Amino acid sequence: MSQISGFNIDNRRYMMGISNGSVSQKTPSKLRNICGVTVGAVVGLAPIPYILKESIAKVSQKNLAGQRSMMSMILPNIDTLENTKRNISEIIEKIGLKEKGVELVVASDKNKSEIANLLKKSVAGDSKISKLMRESFLQKFIEGINAAYLPETKKIIVPQSQCYMSAYHELGHAYDFLKSGLGKVLSKGRYLVPFNIPIFAPLFLAVGLLHNKKNILENEKTKFEKTKDFIKDNAGKLTFLNFAPVLMEEGLASINGLKFAKKYLDNRQLGKLRQGLGLCWGTYATVAFLFAAGVWGAIELKDKIAGTKKAS
Ligand SMILES: [Zn+2]
Repeated sequence: MSQISGFNIDNRRYMMGISNGSVSQKTPSKLRNICGVTVGAVVGLAPIPYILKESIAKVSQKNLAGQRSMMSMILPNIDTLENTKRNISEIIEKIGLKEKGVELVVASDKNKSEIANLLKKSVAGDSKISKLMRESFLQKFIEGINAAYLPETKKIIVPQSQCYMSAYHELGHAYDFLKSGLGKVLSKGRYLVPFNIPIFAPLFLAVGLLHNKKNILENEKTKFEKTKDFIKDNAGKLTFLNFAPVLMEEGLASINGLKFAKKYLDNRQLGKLRQGLGLCWGTYATVAFLFAAGVWGAIELKDKIAGTKKAS
């Protein structure tokens, strides 16, 4: 912000009594503030149970057919399973992942217990949540609505019936985890988004809802005050940033997977795979956007209800 004679423009306006949309103009009444914070918290946290349910719970019988047909449209079987298995095995060997222990496992009703054992190493523990997660993953692999790379056992798991083309993307993850420098760094970003929930989002939301900007000169504010102002002003963007390493790593896995697939698929197949993986990436981006918009909207709403921010 530009400085004029030691005062910044916003403060000069304030001192002259001209209202400025980005500055709090009065102390909110307690009741309005409590209402604003409550409504904001409900709006801002609304995506969490929904996303948690998506990540942890099994798909209900009612929704299973719909999800199966959606995934078969997004990632159609554009090659045979046999060809895909052969191609992936060849690539694993070629790029030095075989010696690292990477293997493709095709999930079906027949090897349910093998997959369940692999999942126990990835999602350890006897808690209810761990059990639910393992059941959810197993169901999604068998039913053809999810695939994964499990770093703990270095297994690429794809369903037998459909969606097995995502083996190329999962191979990209394996490569990122084990071979690519940037991928290794980005893969750590997963810890920032457990169960697809940006870990810092509740903190950004809390600061945005509970902190009311003070009407004092910028240079009279403490560093802590300025930090809280910054978080409040940028909570939505910061929430999106929290998600960014995962979005980048997901994109990188697809870029690498498509690069590996080039020698094995024709142009039409490659085009379809690129499109499908792009749509899958879009689901991650949508979740990130939903969270960011939720946090931003909740803070705007709170300020309007509490009267701590003038509508611009
Ligand atoms: Zn992925």
